[in-house]
Amino acid sequence: MPAKVDRNKRDVSSKQRDVAPKKKDKAPAPGTKTVNSKQRKDTDRSGGLVGSDGKSIRARVRNGKIRLSGNASDNIKAISKMINESGSKTARKQFMRLSKSEGKVNFRISKEHNTVAHGMHQPHDISGNILNWDKEKGIFDGSPAVSVDSKGDRYYKEATITLFEPNHERLALVKGLSKEQAMVITFAHEVDHNLNQLAIQAVMDRDRGIENNYDVEAPAEKVEAQVEKEIRAHLDSTRTRPPESAGSLFGLGL
Ligand SMILES: [Zn+2]
Repeated sequence: MPAKVDRNKRDVSSKQRDVAPKKKDKAPAPGTKTVNSKQRKDTDRSGGLVGSDGKSIRARVRNGKIRLSGNASDNIKAISKMINESGSKTARKQFMRLSKSEGKVNFRISKEHNTVAHGMHQPHDISGNILNWDKEKGIFDGSPAVSVDSKGDRYYKEATITLFEPNHERLALVKGLSKEQAMVITFAHEVDHNLNQLAIQAVMDRDRGIENNYDVEAPAEKVEAQVEKEIRAHLDSTRTRPPESAGSLFGLGL
């Protein structure tokens, strides 16, 4: 096991050499505000959420809201807006953890209805193929490329997180929340699959044929429940009317 870690560590450093140094004199994209030096440090990396230009986006929190760099894709902008409006600190934290992670993450919102899940987390293999989860076996249909960061945490070198928007219309009705709030809940769930160390270990072990019965859904569902709790608390705090009149306002169609 230690030998594997060492090899992965070498992977990381050679990868870092490949991407550094980055030009700092690049003109900002149109519409981008001038960045301060603290933000600029974040451009010297290739991990985190992939922007519309294929480069890492920069994210920071100001006054409790996520702010994004100009290269954030429409999908990333959309989910960060949903998170900001949801009032969930845990969802915001999940977003920020993802944006700061060393692994690359492609994020997309699909307009298609999925028959299996509301959202999907798919690591890529060493050749960049997006892997599919076999729910029955609890493994992916290939070997995810995993590396180790400077803190010793394992990370998927690249992954794709997808939210299926139409699925959330129904979920929203069931939960009595908006579609956007439901999507924030799923997002936080999928991020756990990408970053949870025990889940990554379980996926790696099973891929190698080592028995590991860790339930990867349990921690993701815990995060999901916490986000939902925070969204409901936020709704309660922002509703100024008493419950009776709120009922007449929101009751229709729920
Ligand atoms: Zn899951």
